[in-house]
Amino acid sequence: MNPTIRAYAPGRLNLIGEHTDYNLGYALPIALQVGTVAEYTPDPAARDLTVVSDSEPGGVTIGLDTAPGDVGGWGAYVAGCVWALRTAGREVAGGRLHIGSDVPVGSGLSSSAALECAVLLALRARAERAGSAPGGGDDRHALARIAQRAENDYVGAPTGLLDQLASLYGRPDTALLIDFRSLAVTNVPVRLARDGADATLVVIDSKAPHRHAVGEYAARRGACEEAAARLGLPSLREAPADAWRSLRDEVIQRRARHVLTENERVLVAAEALRNGELEVLGRAMDASHASMRDDFEITTPGIDHIVDTARGMGALGARMTGGGFGGSVVAVVPTAVLGHLEARLPEVVEAAGFPRPTVRAVRPGAGAHVV
Ligand code: ADP
Ligand code: MG
Repeated sequence: MNPTIRAYAPGRLNLIGEHTDYNLGYALPIALQVGTVAEYTPDPAARDLTVVSDSEPGGVTIGLDTAPGDVGGWGAYVAGCVWALRTAGREVAGGRLHIGSDVPVGSGLSSSAALECAVLLALRARAERAGSAPGGGDDRHALARIAQRAENDYVGAPTGLLDQLASLYGRPDTALLIDFRSLAVTNVPVRLARDGADATLVVIDSKAPHRHAVGEYAARRGACEEAAARLGLPSLREAPADAWRSLRDEVIQRRARHVLTENERVLVAAEALRNGELEVLGRAMDASHASMRDDFEITTPGIDHIVDTARGMGALGARMTGGGFGGSVVAVVPTAVLGHLEARLPEVVEAAGFPRPTVRAVRPGAGAHVV
């Protein structure tokens, strides 16, 4: 008998802390209530894994001995998981894999990590049941690294660990304060009501395609490494908060200033969220957006317009979320004005000549698990 294993992994939303992961700083994501389900029917006799996704036409067949370069397109995310698991010394059995998801693709909500984490959990669950994996122990950190390896070295997308840790460690009504130097993940209760005022987390998808995102990401990463090297430090995490002042190049100075000030804002935002200090949280988010716009230069006119419009309609704070050059905006919106913002913001942004965005209220949801 080969019973089917179902594993779920959510998309994620980063509340604050952008481009800080590879600088060994801090970020504050939540897991979303949308996610990806991988249904795995193992067949120990099979030499390959046949994968279909409801989101993509056709199927992909992946040899268990796959290596980077074999499989391209969306199948590379799954093949990368098989390869990274086996490279880490874990056993993988062949069979059939069916993928279903309600995470929007390419919106900055990390459909890629949701896919990787769901696939990895399903493949690992079978190894545990077959007695060839240790099981029981919490190896979510190890799985996050394996997922990252799949994305970095098989797919070829140079991303940090933020997405995978958020998908694996998420909890309802909880944000995750991640320290990328120690990789400690601290639960922060999400308190969005205080003194009779309450607010809602809102994601506004700009619907603008990412442009130049890969090259620009690499350039920002390079600038941060250069800043750390000029300061004689292994990473910007070791730099004092005002270290950017001593850098000579004006652009490098601004890149470093974004990272150093963003780390401080993450800590302020985490404390504010825990205490229900919504104004403080909102100010940190606004300052984060200004820093991404002016110092790190990763926003777009359309994204800036959405942020300004949301603020004008009463949001306590709003900022771009994700790697930049498109994607989504996260806002903290007083629940009293939520209906107005949902109804009016899309048409106001569209009337200004940008794609019509979508608005959705979100709450922190459960992390990845076998169902
Ligand atoms: P994001 O992670 O922000 O949504 P990425 O470009 O990192 O955007 O990842 C999106 C890619 O991940 C898609 O183009 C596709 O190749 C793959 N992907 C994500 N979810 C699925 C799915 N449910 N089925 C097939 N491929 C998927
Ligand atoms: Mg992604």
